[in-house]
Order: sequence, then C-alpha cells, then structure tokens
Amino acid sequence: MDACTDKQIISSEDRMSGYPVPILIQNEDTSVFELDEEALASVLLNTGIEDKHVCVLAVAGAFRKGKSFLLDFLLRYCCNRDSEDWLGDSSSPLRGFKWRQGSKRETTGILVWSKPFMVKKKSGEEIAVILMDTQGTFDTQSSMKDSTVVFALTMMVSSVLVYNLMNNIQEDDLMNLQTFTSYGIQAQEDCDTSHAFQRLQFLVRDWGFPYETPYGHKGGQGVLDEILQITPKQHPAHQDVRRDLRKCFRDINCYLMPHPGFKVIQHANFDGKLDDIDPEFVEHLRVLVPHLLAPENLVKKEFGGQPIKARDLYNFFKTFMEVFKDVDLPEPTTLVEFAARASSQAALEAGKEQYVNAMDTLVGGDRPFLKTTQMETEHEKEKQRAVASYLEKNKYGRKNQRVVEKYQLQLEEEIDKLYNKYVEQNEAKNVFKAARTPATLFSALMF
Ligand code: GDP
Ligand code: MG
Repeated sequence: MDACTDKQIISSEDRMSGYPVPILIQNEDTSVFELDEEALASVLLNTGIEDKHVCVLAVAGAFRKGKSFLLDFLLRYCCNRDSEDWLGDSSSPLRGFKWRQGSKRETTGILVWSKPFMVKKKSGEEIAVILMDTQGTFDTQSSMKDSTVVFALTMMVSSVLVYNLMNNIQEDDLMNLQTFTSYGIQAQEDCDTSHAFQRLQFLVRDWGFPYETPYGHKGGQGVLDEILQITPKQHPAHQDVRRDLRKCFRDINCYLMPHPGFKVIQHANFDGKLDDIDPEFVEHLRVLVPHLLAPENLVKKEFGGQPIKARDLYNFFKTFMEVFKDVDLPEPTTLVEFAARASSQAALEAGKEQYVNAMDTLVGGDRPFLKTTQMETEHEKEKQRAVASYLEKNKYGRKNQRVVEKYQLQLEEEIDKLYNKYVEQNEAKNVFKAARTPATLFSALMF
C-alpha cells in the first residue's frame, strides 16, 4: 500500500511538513526522462535556500529494497531532530516518501523532499540538507538503461550517497560504480582537488551473518575492508574499481542492518508502525539514522573542490539533462563534459556574486554619487577580479578550454549588463545633473 499518496495526508501530520516532489520523471509513452524544472525550482530557488551551501543525501540502489522506507525514518529524524524520542509514537504509520508493499513494478525517477532541512555545522554555518529518493529497477535490460541515467544523475549531484544493497556487497554492486570511478579519476587529474565525490555509505539490508560479523558500523567496516581488498587473482577491471573507489570518495563507510521482521514483508496492511517492526531493526535505526544525519556527516556538496549552493544544484540538474539528452549510456567522457560545464556554471555564478557584492559596497543604493571615470575604473577592476576568481574556482572546467571560454564570455557579458544598472542607479544620485533640468533650476532660483 502507499504509505503516503499526496500532500493532504502529510500536511495533516503535526510536525512533518512537506511532501515528496518528483523532479525527474519518465515519460510513459516515450520512456524519455524529463526534468520538472518548475518543481525543482520550487524546492531550491527560494529565499533563504538558494544562497546556502547544500548537502544532498540520496538513497540509491535496486528497486524494492526498502530505500523509501528508510528515507521516511530519516525524514522523521529531520523533523524531530531536537527530541530524544525522535522515533515518536510506536503506533503511528510511517509517512513521507512513497513506499510499497507487494511486488508491482514502479516507474523510474527521482524525488526530493519539498522542504530542505537547515542544519548548523560546527563552524556555525547553516547548510540546506536535501533528501533525495531514487527509483531504479535494474530488473530488465531496458530498465537497466533507464536506471543508469537515474543512478548517474544521483551520483553527480549527491554529497552523501547511501548505496542500499540486499544481503551483502556483491561484485556487481561495485561494478555499477565503475563508470563513476573512472570519471572521478579523469576529473581529478591535473586539478589540485583531492576527491571527485564526498561520502559513500554502503547500507546492507537483511545482513545474514551476524554471528560471524555483527550488525552496525564496525561489522560494516570489516565487510567493506574485505570486499575492497585487491588481490592478484582479481580481474584487472575489478582491481581498478577498488583502487579508484578509495581515490574518488573522501569517505567510504558501511553499515549492516538486521532484517526488519516478517510483518514488514508479509502483511499486506502493514503501515510502517514501529510496533510491527522487529525491535532489533528499530534499535539499529536509533544508531544509523542520527549518525547519517549528524552535522559532521552531512558534508557539503562540492564540485572540483568548491562547495556549491542550492541555485548551482538547480543548474546542475539542467546541465545534466542537456548533456545527456542524446546520450545512450553515460560514459566517463560524457560525465567529464558535464563536470566541465557544471563547474563553469557554478564558478560563473560565484564570480557574478563577488562582483555584485563589491559593487554594492561601492555604489549601492545607500552610497553617494561617484564620478563616471571613478565608476569605470572600479567596474574594470572588479570585473577582472571576478574573471580571475572564475578561473581559479573552475577546477573541472580546465579539462575543456572551449567550455571555460564560453562561460567566461557569458560572465563578462552578464557583468557588463549589471554595470549598466549600477550606472543608471548612480546617475539617479547625481544632484548636479538633476539641478540642471529647467523645473529644478526654476525652483532653485525662487528659493
Ligand atoms: P524501494 O523500492 O527500495 O524504495 O523499497 P520500499 O521502501 O518501497 O520497500 C519495499 C518493501 O520492502 C516494503 O514492503 C517494505 O516494507 C519492505 N522493506 C523495508 N525495509 C526492508 C528491509 O530492510 N528488508 C526487507 N527485506 N524488506 C524491507
Ligand atoms: Mg522507493
């Protein structure tokens, strides 16, 4: 059954405000993925959000493995972060992202929670945390291709990727990451950035060998260390993916979860209440969820070593769709192309922001009139500084000079347009010029 089907159900819940917003949707007739730009803008381009650095926590992996179910517990924690008893009433149904009983195939796509959660980092900075649910299937050849697009986009935009797997970490699960690790290595080359991706959290559901390796983080670390070991017997591709994974991700962890109990998987009318979930599973939720969402683990999304803001994230989605519209399967080279564009766009925004901040302090609304020559000098100086900052921050752009130049030109044009506005604003403050109009001259003579 659907634990949550629409906005009304959610809004009636006291402390939980918000609803899942589908942002990447697969067209039923053409199978083509479409980005709902308006829906995405409604989440990311709001005052108080668009200028914030972001942490995108995404849960990815095959279909019907309890991803959305887990996300709803993350949501519960986000809504009751300050409460010791964040899991709440044990008889309340679980709401939030849609999760399903039964085996019906669901469509592929991406959803985000309508309300980003503001979390204060140790430094005092507030960042916007975006919870992202992905719907992949990986069950047939065609759905495999569709799921790859979803998975690629998820990899590129998330800063905490929860890779949800059943029973164990298999060779296939690692090989699904190969495209991204080879992209990551290419992207990192020649850029003085340390890691292409931030945090990867393997999450093994229904771990079957607790007597050999215990549930939780420690057991997970053991399993992870073992599977990531490189041995001479392995196929070279299997060796590469292991080596590159460590190089591309700043942080890799693993958590082993127990089975949630038979009511969860067998009862058609199970509604997610804690009473029906195995207590051992609930105990592990109490450890896993606050850990995943601890401020120190909610790492900022970075691109080429630069933290990005919510409005950059919005542009990332759009750029991704542009780059991949004619691409059959994401390849490392297309991902590098995407990275160059996305990085250039983000560096352009940062350069523009720097210019506006500088000009505002010089000639903003409350500043006195400046002589034209002085204005021009300041503008030229700030424009050059903005371009220098653009080039300095645009680490992934360096891979593609054509892209760097295109966006640099755009930055310069946008700055010139902004300058014209500053000129107009400045002119309006010119009392001498205003005094030269006949009406003002007349009134000046009269008094
Ligand atoms: P998703 O497709 O990965 O998002 O899966 P859902 O969250 O919709 O859950 C699919 C089914 O798996 C539901 O019936 C859940 O009750 C059940 N489920 C949730 N968590 C677990 C788990 O840890 N293990 C198992 N075996 N089933 C789970
Ligand atoms: Mg789901």
